[in-house]
Amino acid sequence: MEGMLYLCATPIGNLGDVSARCLEILENADMVAAEDTRRTVQLLNHFGISKPLTSYHEHNKIEKGAYLLSLLQEGKQVVLVSDAGTPAISDPGEDLVRLCIDAGITVTSIPGPVAAINALILSGLPTRRFSFEGFLSVNKRHRHEHLNSLKTDSHTLIFYEAPHKLRTTLEDMEKIFGGARRIALARELTKIHEEILRMTISEAVKYYEEQNPRGEYVLVIEGANGQEAATIEEQWWSALTVSEHVEHYIEKGMSSKEAVKEAAKDRDMPKREVYQIYHTEEA
Ligand code: SAM
Repeated sequence: MEGMLYLCATPIGNLGDVSARCLEILENADMVAAEDTRRTVQLLNHFGISKPLTSYHEHNKIEKGAYLLSLLQEGKQVVLVSDAGTPAISDPGEDLVRLCIDAGITVTSIPGPVAAINALILSGLPTRRFSFEGFLSVNKRHRHEHLNSLKTDSHTLIFYEAPHKLRTTLEDMEKIFGGARRIALARELTKIHEEILRMTISEAVKYYEEQNPRGEYVLVIEGANGQEAATIEEQWWSALTVSEHVEHYIEKGMSSKEAVKEAAKDRDMPKREVYQIYHTEEA
């Protein structure tokens, strides 16, 4: 028998969402690789399944990837599950899939819950064209760059967010996208306290000044309308490197200090950082 990697989607809250095929594949597996083995044990125990488990996560994916590949090459059936939902979506898995494809191992998936898609279809926002953006960085500059890169995107945007970062994220979105866009905040999906709040970004900022964010969130945001898309012209500098951007202002007659200040303002970056990049690239 040839080895095969199964990507098995598991519930994102409600255990009733597990599929019959997912349970059958788990029952027949030689090895289950899980992001968090403790959570997966609970799932397996709930369904009376006992299987060898191994962890596969961001910090061990290189060694574990090689180990799982060796099992697959021996003809074993390996199942990859994530903490919740679909493996390889804002979860480790992508690297293992690539490793197996490159080694000629067959990869198949047992589809099931994905928080992003659940939130999208419940949002009331356009579902025809959307962009999944995953988690925003904890680094302020990266977060701002990410949001700025989406400012004129007309797709419905989907983000994952943890409760302790929700307020900062909403404030950043208000600053960059403007407060008038519609947002759906989906939490506790498929659970007893499932809640979808539909409002504008500014209303969401105000709401969470009073309320404590609880649970994991999916944020679904209306894409840029025609008017905002037209502001793309304002970002005339988006194709320039930081240094080219500074040089542009110098060529217009500014001192290098003024040019750094202007470029930093355009890019919403600290002056010090623009100065450093400009002088490093110049050297
Ligand atoms: N692989 C998962 C999937 O298919 O959706 C996502 C894993 S990612 C590490 C975890 C994030 O998914 C959470 O921070 C939250 O944004 C979102 N999420 C997962 N379960 C959720 C739920 N029941 N309700 C709302 N959001 C959820």
